[in-house]
Amino acid sequence: MSLCSGNRQGYKLLCNGSQYKCTACGQVGCTQNRADYCSGQVFLSTGQCVKCGALGTRELLSSEATQYASTLMKDSRPAA
Ligand SMILES: [Zn+2]
Ligand SMILES: [Zn+2]
Repeated sequence: MSLCSGNRQGYKLLCNGSQYKCTACGQVGCTQNRADYCSGQVFLSTGQCVKCGALGTRELLSSEATQYASTLMKDSRPAA
């Protein structure tokens, strides 16, 4: 799982937020409610990319999530 290694403003802590990729500009970073909230931020909570301004291009960057989804599909109907 990929986590944001940026720093959140106001906290001297690692962000550790889930990372997303913008499919328009290729930037990878976290999502925050406000612009410039984290040094590694790429998206606003509205789903808008703060790097290129595109909307609806956010893609979760997590191999775990992908695996979880495929597991669900396989196991949703167990053999009787
Ligand atoms: Zn972050
Ligand atoms: Zn972008």
